Amino acid sequence: MQRALSVSRTTGNKSTFPDWYQAIVREADMAELSPVRGSMIIKPWGYGVWERIQQTMDRRIKEMGVDNCYFPLFIPLGFFAKEAEHVDGFAKEMAVVTHHRLKAIDGKLQPDPDAKLEEPLIVRPTSETIIGDAFSRWVKSHRDLPLKINQWANVVRWEMRTRLFLRTSEFLWQEGHTAHADREDALASTQQALEMYREFAETVLALPVVAGEKPENERFPGADNTYSIEAMMQDGKALQAGTSHYLGTSFARAQNIRFQGDSGELEYCHTSSWGTSTRMIGGLIMTHGDDDGLRLPPAVAPRQIVVVPMLRDKPEDAEVLAFGEALVKALNATFALGEPIRALLDTKAQRSAEKRWNWVRRGAPIIVELGPRDVANGMVSFMRRDDLRDGDKVKSQALPKDEFIAKAPALLAAIQQGLFDEAKARLDANIHRDITTWDQLAEYFGTGADEDEDGGGGAFKGWVRAAWSRPTGEGLDAIEARLKTLKLTLRNAPMDQPTTFAPCIFTGEPGVEEIIIGRAY
Ligand code: AMP
Repeated sequence: MQRALSVSRTTGNKSTFPDWYQAIVREADMAELSPVRGSMIIKPWGYGVWERIQQTMDRRIKEMGVDNCYFPLFIPLGFFAKEAEHVDGFAKEMAVVTHHRLKAIDGKLQPDPDAKLEEPLIVRPTSETIIGDAFSRWVKSHRDLPLKINQWANVVRWEMRTRLFLRTSEFLWQEGHTAHADREDALASTQQALEMYREFAETVLALPVVAGEKPENERFPGADNTYSIEAMMQDGKALQAGTSHYLGTSFARAQNIRFQGDSGELEYCHTSSWGTSTRMIGGLIMTHGDDDGLRLPPAVAPRQIVVVPMLRDKPEDAEVLAFGEALVKALNATFALGEPIRALLDTKAQRSAEKRWNWVRRGAPIIVELGPRDVANGMVSFMRRDDLRDGDKVKSQALPKDEFIAKAPALLAAIQQGLFDEAKARLDANIHRDITTWDQLAEYFGTGADEDEDGGGGAFKGWVRAAWSRPTGEGLDAIEARLKTLKLTLRNAPMDQPTTFAPCIFTGEPGVEEIIIGRAY
């Protein structure tokens, strides 16, 4: 039997899952490391997935009444110094530009001492401060509010532990920023963005998530409230796939974003910000990948149906190619999942078996293999990537050409739904609600502990959802420290909360909220 990946994710070896992840990134031709530590080169197939994320999310962002714009990569250092918590939070991972020229000194190119910048520039780790500065000029009266903008850009955070897509020093993202007249409106906007992320993750990425509020210790630097969507990977760990922050008036105070209120007085705006990044691609891989490679949900697949012609350097090759071209043309004129189908005839000069496995590894949802006999009979033989094998045998189906074209939208929709259902069943089955005390938690997570410092590997454990008393300050610090001994973190308090609560899993005090606890990337 021909295996597409050399590494399996499920042999129980603790290092297997991270190795499997790396193998997919490499063999699905998604990305590779660059010469600069922690930053990556995103290859065409990986970038194609990012473009699909951009296109599908951008429509949703615009539906929220948010317009796109672009702010500069460089931010004056002084802008950060205005918001104490914010600068503290990001100081340890900022890239700083200090010179604007090089000079050969003793035969070696170095920053020119005569070209030192008066004020160092920060390569943006996030744009709250420079956007806030613009907002202070753009907002004059309540008629300018709410102000809602988004930008698609790259940001730099000098992360010490990096992993392709999941945590890189430079990543691509979108960041939404809004300013409002009052708390209610800003909070509503923060939660609207969170809900957009949840719907996007589930509908487009086929990634079931838990949307909820982060505890105080996990908040964005300077935020009053941080919300997240958390997805469960196939090793049972959580991946924070998007965040939305209510920033109160602290950034408005730091950047002087004020408007004239009804009373004629100047009032500070309430602001929000929200972001998702190329990390979502890592989430797709760790959720939908299998031992043959990636499986892409059709909504994000750059190519949904790939036609591989079986060419033999014989006269009938021309007919196979003509049939393939007509098939792709007809498919591209057909709508599926609300958009024209993205089909491709793969005419690369490779053996057809090699091409087929390349597309299996990359996760193209439907792969058609077209031989002279199919063409003679007007048939289309294809395989579904989500349902590739029956044991060791690759499953293949055949339909008359017109029937295949007519059925393609339903097939793609079924693949999209099937991938979601599979991941949703895994998520639901692995949120444990029967662990209600610290001792039970310690016993459950104390065995098969994760040895991989980067957060990969270890036995599959899933998450615990339990009541807690939501302590703050030192009480919360103590819980965080206890959880750390088990390599656990508090993920979020789901938006859907019951009305009564069991006692706190950490202290036995009356519970006030349910929270998700788990290992995380
Ligand atoms: P934040 O501005 O910190 O709320 O980040 C917004 C989103 O960007 C997070 O929810 C993550 O999904 C993502 N993100 C944060 N840091 C990184 C990183 N180093 N690499 C990739 N994605 C990241």
